[in-house]
Amino acid sequence: MTSLSERLSGPSGTTIFEVMSGLARDLGAVNLGQGFPDMDEPEELIAAARRALGAHSNQYPPMRGLPELRGAIAGYYGREQGLSIDPAEIVVTSGATEALAASLLALVRPGDEVILVQPLYDAYLPLVQWAGGTARFVSLKPPHWTLPLDELAAAIGPGTRGIVLNTPNNPTGTMLTRAELEAVGALAEAHDLWVVCDEVWEGMVFDDTHHVSPLSIPALTQRTVKIGSAGKIFSMTGWKIGWAIAAPALASAIAGKHQFLTFTTATPLQWAVAEALALPPDWHAAHRARYAQAKARLVGGLTRAGFAVLPASGTWFVTVDLAASGLPTDDAVLAERLIREAGVASIPVSAFYAAAAETGFLRLCFAKRDATLDLAVERLARSRLTG
Ligand code: PMP
Repeated sequence: MTSLSERLSGPSGTTIFEVMSGLARDLGAVNLGQGFPDMDEPEELIAAARRALGAHSNQYPPMRGLPELRGAIAGYYGREQGLSIDPAEIVVTSGATEALAASLLALVRPGDEVILVQPLYDAYLPLVQWAGGTARFVSLKPPHWTLPLDELAAAIGPGTRGIVLNTPNNPTGTMLTRAELEAVGALAEAHDLWVVCDEVWEGMVFDDTHHVSPLSIPALTQRTVKIGSAGKIFSMTGWKIGWAIAAPALASAIAGKHQFLTFTTATPLQWAVAEALALPPDWHAAHRARYAQAKARLVGGLTRAGFAVLPASGTWFVTVDLAASGLPTDDAVLAERLIREAGVASIPVSAFYAAAAETGFLRLCFAKRDATLDLAVERLARSRLTG
């Protein structure tokens, strides 16, 4: 019989984000590792949450989420992405993480094969495994981090049931195009696959690029779960209000899992997010513009200091190409050197791989105040000079 300690030691180790943030705190490093903003938080949301605490019940909301929030989510996607979503297709969850968990628990049966695209967000693989599935990996191709459609097609076998996509992608900041999603749609139709698409970064898209959701691809509309997060749309990562959107039968299956994962999600924050989603498109554009400015500041500073920053259209992240920057290409070793010697925390992109990792790239988060970004660039520039 296995001991309790053996049974407890599963895939539950501390994530790289926590390790790097812990080191950054201990060493007094500038933290461009973990993805959280240190800018002013949107006061409209804080005021709305305060009002909600006094004006509405603080008891359990409906299991699938407040009707007002589900209506606001549908309205937001209609305005921002031209999607026509019925609130009955939405399940509100405790962050996108829970939406991913409920969706994968609803979709994956023991023995199913699921295709995951690397570099991948850390929750996907353990969730597929907890549901009893096994993963097959396909990797984006640097330096443009494009999806190799031929490799994706080749990875589909008789046991494959689904694909997990992430656009805009964390950590690379790149996005899937309509043409790529149409090609995925053709494969999904041909092999009867579902798609879970993690779109939490959809609100943080720059340079006139437009986010395309698989829900807008006819071949995928009925077989896709779209995952979103207010934490990312409004830069309030601690609020943990997320959602899954899918055709009615699928949405009901996801709600069936949500019921026993968390059941419901903080009522006042649901009210506040409902109010905030209804803010006019100009508000959302101004919110995005603040991050576009931060991105330009970090990319400009790094480029002037001799770092090769790869193009990225969305998220709060950019990746640095180490070889093209004239730096050693073991990203984990370099990240540790940078935090200890230069005083800047980053995340090695290899941490986002489960197999055959790319090791030549570092992820940096630009969602920071000007002073934080300037200090990081100054330290990184100096580290190169004395390196
Ligand atoms: N998916 C991706 C790609 C993410 O980057 C994150 C947060 N960093 C999440 C999901 C989790 O979102 P939430 O905080 O809403 O659970």
